[in-house]
Amino acid sequence: MRIHLSRPDITEKEINAVTNVLRTPNLSLGPKLPEFESAFAKYIGREHAIAVNSGTSALFLCVSALNIGPGDEVITTPFTFIASSNSIMMVGAKPVFVDIDPTNLNIDPAQIESKITNKTKAILPVEVFGNPAGFDKICEIALKHGLPVIEDSCEALGSELNGKKAGKFGRMSVFAFYPNKQITTGEGGMILTDDDDLADMCVSLRNQGRGKGGGWLDHERLGYNFRLSDINCALGIVQLSRINELKAKRKQVAKWYQQMLADDERLIVPTEADGCDVNWFVFVVRLVDKFTLEQRNSVLTAMRDQGIQVKNYFPPVLLQPFMAQRFDIKGGEFPVTESVCKSTISLPFYNNLSKDEVAVVCKTLKGAIDSSLHTT
Ligand SMILES: *Cc1c(COP(=O)(O)O)cnc(C)c1O
Repeated sequence: MRIHLSRPDITEKEINAVTNVLRTPNLSLGPKLPEFESAFAKYIGREHAIAVNSGTSALFLCVSALNIGPGDEVITTPFTFIASSNSIMMVGAKPVFVDIDPTNLNIDPAQIESKITNKTKAILPVEVFGNPAGFDKICEIALKHGLPVIEDSCEALGSELNGKKAGKFGRMSVFAFYPNKQITTGEGGMILTDDDDLADMCVSLRNQGRGKGGGWLDHERLGYNFRLSDINCALGIVQLSRINELKAKRKQVAKWYQQMLADDERLIVPTEADGCDVNWFVFVVRLVDKFTLEQRNSVLTAMRDQGIQVKNYFPPVLLQPFMAQRFDIKGGEFPVTESVCKSTISLPFYNNLSKDEVAVVCKTLKGAIDSSLHTT
């Protein structure tokens, strides 16, 4: 590949921080864990931050800590990475999908209320691609119905809506630190909340069900090992300290794409809605309606053939075979999601992408769209 989809942004500072931990005896549950957690809580502006070994573990612990289980329903979006809906299924509850808003690709607030039943225990929305649009409305509906919001902010570190950071909307919120996210710890995740009891529960569940102040071999409940090592935390501390720099670089790359693709009427290019300050996770353009799935796929293939890595973020989660079978989904139930999914092209997007590389991607994309018009 000439131009990759994603690359982490690691400097000597991160490398030194990690090797410094390796020179100590505290590779896990050492001082870097609380240091990372308090820096993170402070950045988002929340009482508690609980670091875990992945975003998926973090979501699973939120659903568990809220006592959601078999017979319960959680309202969520079908346009996301599989982990958000899987976390609901992992506890035996049912994800109830609501179609998305075609402008911002997040769950459509106007369609939530009709899906609320007496089994509904929470709403789990996702700031897809980093966009927090609509989250004020989602929280209003949740408040009106007394439902907790589990905010999946795994793609939205550094984004804001009306000056309020992603991760500050939910009763519980979750971030993830896989290498393609806005900051990375290699693998890792974070739970945020202002609720002392939920925080204590997550700390216990993360660490084999151990109680507060209890011994290493005292277990109060069924727990897990979802701990994040001090090696990962040291990496996260440095990455988080650079968040403003990292965000500025991402915003610059997004701006180049927006400028270079603005005049192409065959494309819908992501923009920031009023009140939104988006730190994009990925940069996903869409082909307009007249293009078919086959034509979109031919664009992806043509770009890959020319050494440019692209992806189809996302196919609908509920059309994944195991879900479609479980929930008897045949297709057609979520028209907006399905039409968006067949049109997406996720372009190379990372902090150190140069203006020249962005120009190469745009030129290749335009050529690939020209050629796709001959696809039947
Ligand atoms: C990345 C991501 C996750 C979980 O991430 P992992 O750390 O890979 O488990 C969850 N939800 C969304 C929407 C994501 O993009």
